[in-house]
Amino acid sequence: MSGRALRLVILGRQGSGKGTQCLRLVEHYGTLHVSTGDMLRAAVADGSELGKKAEAIMNAGGLVSDEIMNGIVAERLAKPDIKKRGVLLDGFPRTVVQAEALERILGKGGIDAAINLDVPVSVVTERMLARGRADDTAEAIARRLSLYDEQTAPLIDWFDERGVLVTVDGLGSEDQVFARLRAAIDTRQ
Ligand code: AMP
Repeated sequence: MSGRALRLVILGRQGSGKGTQCLRLVEHYGTLHVSTGDMLRAAVADGSELGKKAEAIMNAGGLVSDEIMNGIVAERLAKPDIKKRGVLLDGFPRTVVQAEALERILGKGGIDAAINLDVPVSVVTERMLARGRADDTAEAIARRLSLYDEQTAPLIDWFDERGVLVTVDGLGSEDQVFARLRAAIDTRQ
């Protein structure tokens, strides 16, 4: 037990069930959910300066610059509610530069666990194809997933080197996966 509020990072492919599990985790642990994707989408909807910069990058499937992202997250994490309730970071860090910024913001040992919600590419591909969305062609899905793997592999190693990586099997029912996540987190607290 660290004696302070829980701080978690969650990583997971599109279609891994990460969104659903995040909602359940924040309800269960009472932490705040900080999703950088949600923050950027809100900025786009507001038409703010940030939103204008982010929109084209997001539409093209690129990454918003580390400098911008580190600034947004540093500002959010500095608010007192985070200290009190803890945080589940979702979508950040996306790069090693961002992970290093996070370590500077929270200090070494500032993250209790980085959870890798693991669902094989073949399974998430099936799930996305089954949704039948217009932008979900087999090629587009494959491109997004291989980009995700390229971006995330170095982060997985980075968290592993710091002894905080926890891989959780994301196959099975929502309840089964949630129980595994809780078990993994409870041993880290
Ligand atoms: P997400 O909802 O996490 O998939 O994020 C949606 C989009 O927002 C991503 O495809 C990126 O363009 C952008 N984005 C979200 N988080 C980050 C981040 N930490 N670094 C760079 N770009 C990000």
